[in-house]
Amino acid sequence: MSRRTKIVATIGPASDNPSTLAALMEAGMDVARLGLAHNTLDEVLERYRRIRKVSEETGHNVGILVDLPGPKVRLGNFGDQPIEMAGGHSFDLVPGLDSSDPTTVGVDYDGLLNDVHEGDLLAVGDGSVVLRIDTVASDHAEASISHGGPVQGRPGLHIPSDRLSIASPTPDDLHRLDAFVDAGVDMVALSFVRSAHDIRRVGTEPYPRGPLLVAKIETRAAVQNLEGIIEAAGAIMIARGDLGAELGIEELPHLQKRITRDCISGGKPVITATQMFESMITSPAPTRAEVSDAANAIFDGSSAVMLSAETAVGHNPVATVATMARVAERADAEFDYDAWAQGSASYVPAELPGSDNRITDAMTAATWRAATEMGVAAIVCISESGFTVRSIARFRPKMPIIGFSPRSRTVRQLSLSWGTVPVQASGHVDSIETMDEMIVAAREAGHVRSGDVVAVLAGTGGRSTDMLRLAEVP
Ligand code: PEP
Repeated sequence: MSRRTKIVATIGPASDNPSTLAALMEAGMDVARLGLAHNTLDEVLERYRRIRKVSEETGHNVGILVDLPGPKVRLGNFGDQPIEMAGGHSFDLVPGLDSSDPTTVGVDYDGLLNDVHEGDLLAVGDGSVVLRIDTVASDHAEASISHGGPVQGRPGLHIPSDRLSIASPTPDDLHRLDAFVDAGVDMVALSFVRSAHDIRRVGTEPYPRGPLLVAKIETRAAVQNLEGIIEAAGAIMIARGDLGAELGIEELPHLQKRITRDCISGGKPVITATQMFESMITSPAPTRAEVSDAANAIFDGSSAVMLSAETAVGHNPVATVATMARVAERADAEFDYDAWAQGSASYVPAELPGSDNRITDAMTAATWRAATEMGVAAIVCISESGFTVRSIARFRPKMPIIGFSPRSRTVRQLSLSWGTVPVQASGHVDSIETMDEMIVAAREAGHVRSGDVVAVLAGTGGRSTDMLRLAEVP
């Protein structure tokens, strides 16, 4: 069985040259993620264009996900070399200062002194260093290190999201978003969303005319408002770094299972993110615990697993993706498809909003049953927006989903969709004749063979998918 779970890899200085990008695509990167925290807009746009070019030249269908930082508070730059901040060490925390040294640490958030209180313990980075606010003055706070460790670059500073007076998306996010929408970006991640309202404020056209919006679940409010966020977003990322800092790391495994299940029953792809193969930033192999974490995220139903610093600044990004591809492929083979299918029988279409969606969801439920009973070789799914493909993927069928779309952006957005082989369709598909053409196209691309029985799902011109055929491949 080929790999069903998708791999998102973050591109940074260790991975942004054309030959490494080509090698990452060959190794299994399905989606390239670009962060905006450490570079100028022009530098990230340049990276974006380079990924597109390499993907076109090598023929790999790679989606691009731009991650907007939201109201992420960062410390001023400590420089490229790690600086040890030892436990007990005291320093001044100064809003508006760009740089940091052991005695004066800058923060890029002007509202800091209003939002923090004496005695607060704030995580730095993904929590390896913790600082304590000792006193708050009018122009700085005195702080001390409660848990020491190395700091480098511009690490994040986690301030409980219900204290922050700025909302997501920030004006800066919206400005950067415009540039990427003009460039035709496939997916955009929104950090620190608290409700469906934050997603609606983005104001881009709904996919596929606009980017697929990926809501990062990393605040207490987002967990409380999960249902509305899943409905409003195109996909979800479980951002375990900030989520763990906000709610406590002991909550993470349980939240991860719950969020995953809710996303899939809502027909939305879910990315499990952060520290998946953290040790591979410096080591040639992941730890046993990391391998088990990745496999268990797949058994829980993750559509995609994400690599962050491992591929952005790690010592061997290509080996990291190749290792993740091996681990994912093996876990996919062990996935309990039958138990999942029994659980997903409760995914009744009536739970999902919108009459068009309900027709499509009922059709995909019927398709999955027919495809499973017949043991078809593949589900050929023809979809303008990708909605139908994501709807069938929630059943985690054993057979490949061949996701045809006439829209190139949909094809790239489907790079995130579990179990899906995205394929560009030559034209609109709304008749039995064109369904036949897609079956032949799937055979010619090597996805099915002559004599195989396939299930083919398409729409006949309305907004819903309303036609299912079970056909033998000629
Ligand atoms: C996270 O917090 O886990 C995350 C994915 O967000 P970022 O990498 O932007 O901090």
